[in-house]
Amino acid sequence: MPKSTQKPTNRLSPTCKGTGPLDKLAHQVTRPSQTGAAAVVDDDLKLTKNAQFSAKENFGKRARVKFLTEAMAVGLANVPDSKLTKSYWNTFYCSTILQKKGEALTGKYCKNRWCLVCCRIRSAQLIKQYAPVLQSWPEKHLVTLTVPNCSGDALAVTIKQMKGGFDTIRRSWAMQHRRKQRASQLVALRKLEVTHNPYRDDYHPHFHLLVPDLATANELRAAWLIQFPSAKWDGQDVCAANAGAAHELFKYFTKLVTTQSKERFIRLAPLNVIFEAISGQCTFQKFNIPTTKEETSDEEADALAAELNIDAVFEWVQAQADWIDKESGEVLTNYKPSPQFRQFVESKIVYNSPQKRPSKP
Ligand SMILES: [Zn+2]
Repeated sequence: MPKSTQKPTNRLSPTCKGTGPLDKLAHQVTRPSQTGAAAVVDDDLKLTKNAQFSAKENFGKRARVKFLTEAMAVGLANVPDSKLTKSYWNTFYCSTILQKKGEALTGKYCKNRWCLVCCRIRSAQLIKQYAPVLQSWPEKHLVTLTVPNCSGDALAVTIKQMKGGFDTIRRSWAMQHRRKQRASQLVALRKLEVTHNPYRDDYHPHFHLLVPDLATANELRAAWLIQFPSAKWDGQDVCAANAGAAHELFKYFTKLVTTQSKERFIRLAPLNVIFEAISGQCTFQKFNIPTTKEETSDEEADALAAELNIDAVFEWVQAQADWIDKESGEVLTNYKPSPQFRQFVESKIVYNSPQKRPSKP
């Protein structure tokens, strides 16, 4: 990886401009695998609080994703000619300082879609915010809509076409509803994701949708294939959504790890292509769902603040994978990465496959 002399410039980074609250952390990419290194990463994004653990132990999960995210942010910030270098540095500094004062434990969070620290917080908020809506859909279904894979250069245009095609369906259903030819408009939650295939070096943009019932799911799949005749029927998936599947939609988890090979890596160059292509775009949207009150709490931090007795300032130390009170030397979470996870973080974040290194030194 080329060395960069670029210095971080700004600790604040509201990067998703002009978009709705759902998109503050909008993200890409698919369902995490449960095997190998992917599981190593995914384990840390589990949002369910474990009642057996103390607030400190639960906050240790944030330390674990901070440990991975900081290493990844440095790598992304060193991708040559990226349009997002400044934002990647903001992620490097995400929650570096945490201040415990009174009943609060606060820090500056980058809110970038690739930041796993912010992803955990935002996902938990969305699950809480949309729980009443999802509970009112007893027959909810997940729909996956795809188009044929494309090159990195064509990714932004392909995503634009997908959004355009979906909008045509939405508008046509709205018109039919107005003419009383259809019982309701299109009601859905939609997430855009993109994955990279390292062998073919192409990209797979797709939508995951949550809809209230099976009939809507099937109609949507049929309408999509009319919009995109080159898309295959069996590429479009419809399945019943249990609560866990619904939560997948809110999981702002980036499929960082390539799971198709035995050797698992986080490949920075294709990730940068994906993040650039979706930069500034809404990747999470709701359609004809009433606005619910935005959830802004950080329950993990609140719980830990309640458990800490004294006020203090904690600073992140990557080598120790924890926040440290510089005055007392006390660690905040007592999280210790496993040797396997440390080795993954320190050696499996690569620019790209070896034959695709940048030509610059
Ligand atoms: Zn962040």
